[in-house]
Amino acid sequence: MGVTMMELIEKLWFLRRDIVSDGFDEALRWIGQKIPLKVHAYPSGDPCWTWTVPEKWSVGEAFIETLDGHRLLDVKTHPLHVMSYSLAIHRVVKKEELFRHLHTNPQRPKAIPFEFKYYQKDWGFCIQHERLAEFTENEYRVVIDSVFEKGALKVGECVIPGEMQDSIVVVAHLCHPAMVNDDLSGVAVLVDIAQQLQAKSHRHTFRFVWVPETIGSLAYLSHNEELIPLMRFGIFLEMLGNANTLALQLSRQGDTRLDRIMRYVLKKRSGSFREGSFRKIVCNDEMVFNGPGVNIPMVSLSRYPYPEYHTSDDSLAIISKDRLEQARDVVLE
Ligand SMILES: [Zn+2]
Repeated sequence: MGVTMMELIEKLWFLRRDIVSDGFDEALRWIGQKIPLKVHAYPSGDPCWTWTVPEKWSVGEAFIETLDGHRLLDVKTHPLHVMSYSLAIHRVVKKEELFRHLHTNPQRPKAIPFEFKYYQKDWGFCIQHERLAEFTENEYRVVIDSVFEKGALKVGECVIPGEMQDSIVVVAHLCHPAMVNDDLSGVAVLVDIAQQLQAKSHRHTFRFVWVPETIGSLAYLSHNEELIPLMRFGIFLEMLGNANTLALQLSRQGDTRLDRIMRYVLKKRSGSFREGSFRKIVCNDEMVFNGPGVNIPMVSLSRYPYPEYHTSDDSLAIISKDRLEQARDVVLE
C-alpha cells in the first residue's frame, strides 16, 4: 500500500530515531511496508574505512528534579530533552555542574534544542532557554537511564533496475529524533519518488538509500565498494518543507551534467531559487559520497536555512505539502 508524504511524516515524527537505535529500525521497517526495501545491517564495532560503527543507544527514564522531588524536566514530555547518545548518570549534582550539561538555544528561548554527542562520551539534557530561571536551588538529582550495547547500524536501500547498471543514487538521512523538516521531509520525498518510479522502465538504475547521517553513508559505501564506479551521479535531499526557496548546492565538481540539469529544471519550475557551491549551503552525506576517495558527483536540494532548525519547533506546523511536492517534482523531472 502506498503512503503519502504527510502520512509518513506524521507516523515517524516522534520516533526516537538515533543513529543506531530501535527507533531507527522501526522507521525503516515501516518504510519497508510501503516500498520494496533491502535493509543492510552493519554490526557495532565494524570498521567503515577509518570510522567504526557505534554501539546501539537507548534511553529509559531521564529527568532532573529538586532534592524534595519537584521534577523540572522529564524526557517523557519530549524526546529532545535528553541529548542523543548521552552517557548514563544517577547522581546529585551542584547547579554549576548541571548547567555545564544543560543545552539551550538563546536565539529560540521557547524551543528545546536538538543536541547529540555520538562520539564524545558525555551526558546532557536539552531545555528551553527561558526555563533556566526555574533552577533556583543549589543541588539537583539527575537521572539518565541510557544503555549502550552491541547492535547494528541499518541502511535501507531500494533499487529500481534500469537498462544500464550505471546508477543514480539519491540519499536522505533518517536519524533526527522528533523533528520534521530535518530530516523527515527528505525521507518522505524520497519514499514518494521511489513509489512513483516503481514499475516503469528507466535507462539508469536508481539506488535510493536512507541512512543515519555520515556514518550510515560510510558504512554503506565501504561495504559496497564495487558499486562506487557505477554510481554516476547523486542527489542528497533534506529540509524540503519549510517556507524558503529551494537551494541547489552543486557537486564538488560543480559543472557535471547533473549540476546543469538541476539548474535548468529549477529555473523552469520554480523561478526563484538559490544556488551555492559544494559545502556552501549545508553539509550532509554528500560530504561522504562526493568526498575524497569516493567522489561521486552529488548535488543537494534543500530549503536551508530556517529559524526552527535543530529544535523542537521543527514540527509539522512549519512544512507544507505543496512545498514537498514542488521539491519532489524537480527531482522527478
Ligand atoms: Zn540536522
